[in-house]
Amino acid sequence: MSDAPQSAGTGGPAEGARQAMPEHVRYDMPCVQCGYNVRSMPVAGKCPECATSIAKSVEGFSMQTAPPAFVRALRRGMLVTGWGAIALAACTIASVFVGALLGFMPRINPLAVTVALSGVVTMITIVMMAGVWKLTTPERVDRPFAPLHTPRLLARGAAVVVVLLALWAMVAQLFVQQGMQNVATVMRAFRGQATQAQAGGGPPWQAINMLLQNLPWASIVQLVVSTVLLTIAWCIAVCACMVYCRWLGRRMRDAKLVKLCSVVVWLSVGASGLFGCIGIAPFLLQILLAVVCWRFARALRPLVGVHAGA
Ligand SMILES: [Zn+2]
Repeated sequence: MSDAPQSAGTGGPAEGARQAMPEHVRYDMPCVQCGYNVRSMPVAGKCPECATSIAKSVEGFSMQTAPPAFVRALRRGMLVTGWGAIALAACTIASVFVGALLGFMPRINPLAVTVALSGVVTMITIVMMAGVWKLTTPERVDRPFAPLHTPRLLARGAAVVVVLLALWAMVAQLFVQQGMQNVATVMRAFRGQATQAQAGGGPPWQAINMLLQNLPWASIVQLVVSTVLLTIAWCIAVCACMVYCRWLGRRMRDAKLVKLCSVVVWLSVGASGLFGCIGIAPFLLQILLAVVCWRFARALRPLVGVHAGA
């Protein structure tokens, strides 16, 4: 249970962490005793409010002293979320190729392929959100600082909403595809009648009118609404998750990880708005999210005491 190194002790990861300790506190960090923000103060110094050693606060805030069960849950959540993000990115690429290939394969039923692909994407989304839920596990021990609750809870709430919206979008997609097949049948029959009646095939507006009348509008509206809401909820989940991870990165004393989290935070804000239409930003977001999660998982590994493979 207690594989993680505790505060004092010679050798092992705790010793490495002490060597890596910055000379000045680089981030917002509460004093372990009085909660005063000791940012930019020398680690070797004392809190100006209560004279507690700042090194003691640094150690208390550090992930090295976090409960092992919490660190384990965090690492598992990171791995699931990271692989989920990569799997979603792979699905994005796959759907483009499959769409292009279907044009050359008239024998394959596009309905079956679309439904299968949408089912896989929904499953991955659910697994990934389970990862987000896991990595936002609360730290169930009295810590010498206030935990960052708001983004953590927001990420959890958004993850639940994402799962519900993904299921709604999948069902809507199913009905749209089925409706489109009916439209194709109706249009084939209509064209057959038109060519029998006159060689020209009838005026084009008649065909357009026929098409508009038969499109599965209710399902299309549902699909559009659920997809837009899903994108927004997904971006909120990622954004809140990364704000929380940035704070965890500070506790890991990993400046690169903190910066990377900031990039993903801003990208997710952009992706939910303008760039969401282009489709490249969400894709990039998934890749970056995976990078953050893997980096965290790797950094957390010595704290969990896992030695074999990721
Ligand atoms: Zn103090």
